[in-house]
Amino acid sequence: MTVAVIGAGLAGLAAALDLAEAGVAVQVFEASPHAGGRCRSWHDPDLGLIDNGAHILLTSNHTAMAWLARLGTAGLMQPVAAGGFVFRDLADGARWTVRPDRGPWVFDAKRRTADVGAWSHLSGLLRLLLAGRTATVTEVLRRQPLALRRLWQPLCVAALNTPPDLASARMFARTLMRAFATPPVPLLASQSLDAALVAPAVERLRALGGVVRTGCRVQRLIRQDARVTALVTAEGEVPVTAVVLAAPPEAAAELMPGLVVPTASAAIVNLHARLPEGVRLSEGPMLGLIGGTAEWLFQRGSLLTVTVSAADRLLALSRAEIAALVWRDCEVVLGCPLPAAHRVIKERRATILATPAGLSQRPSVDATGLSNARLAGDWTATPVPATIEGALISGARAARSLLQALPTLRLPVAVAAPT
Ligand SMILES: Cc1cc2nc3c(=O)[nH]c(=O)nc-3n(C[C@H](O)[C@H](O)[C@H](O)COP(=O)(O)OP(=O)(O)OC[C@H]3O[C@@H](n4cnc5c(N)ncnc54)[C@H](O)[C@@H]3O)c2cc1C
Repeated sequence: MTVAVIGAGLAGLAAALDLAEAGVAVQVFEASPHAGGRCRSWHDPDLGLIDNGAHILLTSNHTAMAWLARLGTAGLMQPVAAGGFVFRDLADGARWTVRPDRGPWVFDAKRRTADVGAWSHLSGLLRLLLAGRTATVTEVLRRQPLALRRLWQPLCVAALNTPPDLASARMFARTLMRAFATPPVPLLASQSLDAALVAPAVERLRALGGVVRTGCRVQRLIRQDARVTALVTAEGEVPVTAVVLAAPPEAAAELMPGLVVPTASAAIVNLHARLPEGVRLSEGPMLGLIGGTAEWLFQRGSLLTVTVSAADRLLALSRAEIAALVWRDCEVVLGCPLPAAHRVIKERRATILATPAGLSQRPSVDATGLSNARLAGDWTATPVPATIEGALISGARAARSLLQALPTLRLPVAVAAPT
């Protein structure tokens, strides 16, 4: 008998690894041909090894840092803003560097947002912290238009993948407090997301006797007496002792009719381009752009990745139209035309929308109503937005909750209690 983990994204892998390390026999069922879910990497014929989109971790993401340490891959996520967060406003060409790396940075005009005073930074944060449950970021900060444009909006969209007029002010405040509790250093995968976060986890799981079955969609769960007893795949029925359902919300709701899940999601669009020799971002490997379509530019060797979050407005455009629109902004800073080798990747349901209503729909990991089934995923109720950190936290919580409820899961069959 086995504990089934449905979905080999980071939430599923985190749950599976915790269970396997506790001595539980685990099988992971993954619908797609590869593990990793929304953290995917592949070989593009024109660009070489690419990720589905730039994924930034902050050193203040403690669960993600622990995950890297556990996998021995901390060296594969490299700092990209050692000198601070560099921004340019496309409207007037203003440039500035936010440097939260030492002391009370908001009091130093050279280390905070250009033309936004220390009081604006502090009062904005205070207003966010005091915001009511249903308030959005724009509602709270609309009286600070320049600070909203240059500071809060880019941080909000990047952190919550939700535009400020929809985003929960409370979740944004909590995220800022967590991120800036220690000076945050952004990290980017130096080779690929797969190498840093996914493949070593699969390898470790297999070394512990776990099974990862890719290309194996779970079609249905069979229940009896408020328990899951088996799952159904195209290959037939698999009896299970317990289940961690770590699929995205819409798939989870299909497998567990009646489960309340957040329904609204937001897209992220990325453009990858191979830069010609000698062309590079003069500001360093990471640049924030204000006032255009392109939001963040990341350079890894000669590969440039441009990210647009909360990007639903772009979904109706063709990839060529998106590339042209995004490159209009890139050309301003790089001075070269769109390289022939480029790729646009649209992730329609990149994350759930972090609206007050959407966040209140996030279920806890044990909200299945079934004694031997738990939920995991970045869309479940964690203290953080839908991110890698959230996915990993949820996976660990699901595994812990199952082990507490069913301690015999970890007993090897040979020493199971005598009947
Ligand atoms: C373009 C992009 C950029 C992002 N940038 C960042 C970032 O900078 N920082 C950050 O922290 N986060 C970022 N995120 C979010 C991050 O990728 C996710 O929060 C995280 O990967 C979610 O992991 P998960 O395991 O919860 O879900 P998923 O990765 O979606 O995993 C769920 C898995 O379940 C599988 N599945 C679905 N149905 C079934 C079924 N019936 N049977 C079996 N398997 C099934 C799916 O194929 C999938 O592999 C980004 C996301 C995207 C798309």
